This record gives sequence, structure tokens and C-alpha cells, in this order.
Amino acid sequence: MRRALVAGNWKMNGTQASIKALMSELLPAIASGINGVDVVVCPPFPYLDQVADAAFGSELVLGAQNVSVAAKGAYTGDVAAAMLADFRVRYVIVGHSERRQIFGENDELIAAKFAAVRQAGMIPVLCVGETRAQRDAGEAEKAVAGQVQAVLERCGIAAFDGAVIAYEPVWAIGSGESATPAQAQEMHAFLRESIAEHDESIADVIQIIYGGSVTAENAEELFASPDIDGGLVGGASLDAQAFIRICNSVS
Ligand code: PEP
Repeated sequence: MRRALVAGNWKMNGTQASIKALMSELLPAIASGINGVDVVVCPPFPYLDQVADAAFGSELVLGAQNVSVAAKGAYTGDVAAAMLADFRVRYVIVGHSERRQIFGENDELIAAKFAAVRQAGMIPVLCVGETRAQRDAGEAEKAVAGQVQAVLERCGIAAFDGAVIAYEPVWAIGSGESATPAQAQEMHAFLRESIAEHDESIADVIQIIYGGSVTAENAEELFASPDIDGGLVGGASLDAQAFIRICNSVS
């Protein structure tokens, strides 16, 4: 039985004041019981400490949006995995399509980030997903398989034990056009099968979450699919009530 996971990716949004307001709605909802689901929020780096402090003693878990591959030293602007762990970060998003597309991160760099997160004892959330052009060309599975393969080659199948995969079709991110539950389920089953080819027991337990225009309105239907273990939520995670409804949509 896999536990569900809902992670909010706040991207580059927020101020100390807006985050204080968001947390003041989220924390009581979590305290009063969002059952059977791990709830994670991934603030921008400068606000990690604020969120870690506010969430201390609660069930809310801290995540980060990015990480350096380097352990320390002359890497201006980077943040090391050990620094994130020092702030009680448990989950780190790697390979988000915005990092791939805007910042030119390739599969090899993403695999190295995955390794750095594991090395620091945290949980990588590996984002994979095809572009609209790849889907239209019938190459969606090939695209996501390649993204997973790069991490397998670098880190090995054992590194996926306890990791998270987020299927995020690029065309669905921030577009308001979510994948249909059938499209998402099909890809999640494919991903689980791809992991099973290497290790069936890891495939059985790995959390594969869906991201791409998840809303309070479509979450329940998406999360009802057997291979969808929760969601990675962008825009809707900035609205406390919407995010709480999404968390409560996990059955
Ligand atoms: C994301 O950025 O990971 C994401 C899924 O965004 P949105 O929910 O806004 O589509």
C-alpha cells in the first residue's frame, strides 16, 4: 500500500508576509487532519527558514525546488544539498521542466542532482514529462523513459528506493490544460512498469505523482487512478484553500 503525497511547488513566488498568511491557513488545516497523505511545500530558498520555523512540530514537510551538484565551495549562487538538509528539507525537486527548458539543465546534470540529494539523505522528486510536440509525434513514452534512464545509469535502481517520480507533461504545466486521468494513468503505469523491469519491489512502493494544472476541481478524479499516488501542484498551491482541497482529494 503506497502512501499518498501532495507537494506544493511555490516556484519563484511569495513574500515574507504572503507566506506568513499562507502558512496561517495551511497549518491549522493540517493539524486538524489531512489523513493518509504526506503534505510537502517547496518555497523559494530565502523562505525555507521561515517555513521551517512555522512548520516546526507540525506534519507539514519541507521541500526545496532545486539543488547544486557541488558539495561546497566556489559556486556562486548555488545551494548545496547539505545546506538544504540543515534547514530540515526532506524533499528536493530535480529536473523540473522549467529548469530543463529555461536553464538548460540536461539529463546528466539532473542525474547528478538526484545523486547529490540522495547522498545528503533527502528524497529526490524526479520530474519527467514530454513536450506537446513529443506527444503529438507519439514519442511521449520514449521521452520520459529517456529521462528516467539517465538517472538509472548514473545512480542505479537502488537509488529509486524511497524516491519520488513526478510525471509532469510539459504542455500541462501552468497551462490550465491538465492531462486527462486516462492519459496520466497510462503514463504512470508505464513509468511503474519501467521501474519494475529493474526491480519489482521498488516499483510497487515508489510514489509516482502527477503534476500539470492540478486544481481543487480536477484533483479527485486524477488521484483516483491506481498508479497516481498524489500530485505536484504549482499555481494552485499558492491558494491555501485550494491546496487543502487538493490534499483532501486523495482517497
Ligand atoms: C509545476 O510547476 O510543477 C506545476 C505542476 O505547475 P502547475 O500546477 O501550475 O501546472
